[in-house]
Amino acid sequence: MYLTVRNATKLYGSFTALDDVSISIEQGEFVCLLGPSGCGKTTLLRLIAGLTDIDSGEVTLEGESLSGLPARKRGFGIVFQSYSLFPNMTIAENIGYGLKIRDTPVNQINTRVTELLDLIKLPQIADKFPGQLSGGQQQRVALARAIAVDPRVLLLDEPLSALDAKVRGDLRDEILQLQRALGIPTLMVTHDQEEALALADKIICMNQGAVVQAGTPKELYQKPATRFVADFMGTSNLIKTEVIRSFMPELLGMRPEGDDELYDACIRPEAIKIEPNVNGDALVKSIGFLGNLSKIKLESTLGDLIVEVHGAIDLEENQNVSLQINPADCNWVLNDAVETAS
Ligand code: ATP
Repeated sequence: MYLTVRNATKLYGSFTALDDVSISIEQGEFVCLLGPSGCGKTTLLRLIAGLTDIDSGEVTLEGESLSGLPARKRGFGIVFQSYSLFPNMTIAENIGYGLKIRDTPVNQINTRVTELLDLIKLPQIADKFPGQLSGGQQQRVALARAIAVDPRVLLLDEPLSALDAKVRGDLRDEILQLQRALGIPTLMVTHDQEEALALADKIICMNQGAVVQAGTPKELYQKPATRFVADFMGTSNLIKTEVIRSFMPELLGMRPEGDDELYDACIRPEAIKIEPNVNGDALVKSIGFLGNLSKIKLESTLGDLIVEVHGAIDLEENQNVSLQINPADCNWVLNDAVETAS
């Protein structure tokens, strides 16, 4: 393991922002810290960066403890949500800043800055000032500044969230290309599950100061461990065991042992197949056509369901349909709703 956080706890007064958190990042890996606002993502990132003190626990890099090592000596590159460029320096000076304070010779700085401007596809802007650039361009420069010093780890704190949708999508792809090309181990904080699914080799899903589940995007989407993860990773139909037992007992085959209250069924909207059937016991309540897919809301014996199909669907409101669900697409998730609501 390249970077680890072991049993990190952080209190603000009597409020526990991080509660015994352990995570790891492998060499070259792109890891996303995903969770709702206030769950402790930024605190964890700052603690790794050395910008926030840890109360207990440890951060290690290549097996060595970083305890007591100040942020500037950790050799990490950081990009924040808001464009944190120096407004009175040119773009070239911004990108070269880290090298300059390390006493790098001027000709080497210039070569590196030119190389990085090419890499972020903005070769013409060396002499401009941050205020003359768009938000997306400023974030590209912030990224170039962070990687200029060949950081041992790249830390990104919601770098895309202040940008509009189109720019965000483009820059997301570019960040991934850059990370892949350079192989820098990267930890990115986000509350956007689509972003995490698109970028991450590993997603660490957090809630209320704790890690709830860590795994590949596919694992978290297809095999969420808890109701919270299921809900956070996308649209889910979450159904109580007793309801499944009454109306679709064939889905119980894969259920882990345990009381009915312990596990709920999580069925993704694309896993439910529907067919018009006058005797079907589900009723179409609404159909939303979104171009590439249709979202159908149903009333059924399993409760209200959301179903998604590719493209358009030939159905009408108030039409009866029958449901088909493959038992393998019925995931059993720990019912942590009571815990997370408290
Ligand atoms: P967001 O996406 O909103 O930034 P986050 O998951 O990054 O959320 P943190 O910024 O890590 O969350 O904050 C976690 C909790 O700790 C929040 O409830 C926040 O109010 C609290 N907190 C953070 N910094 C401080 C501080 N300096 N003093 C007191 N409380 C703080």
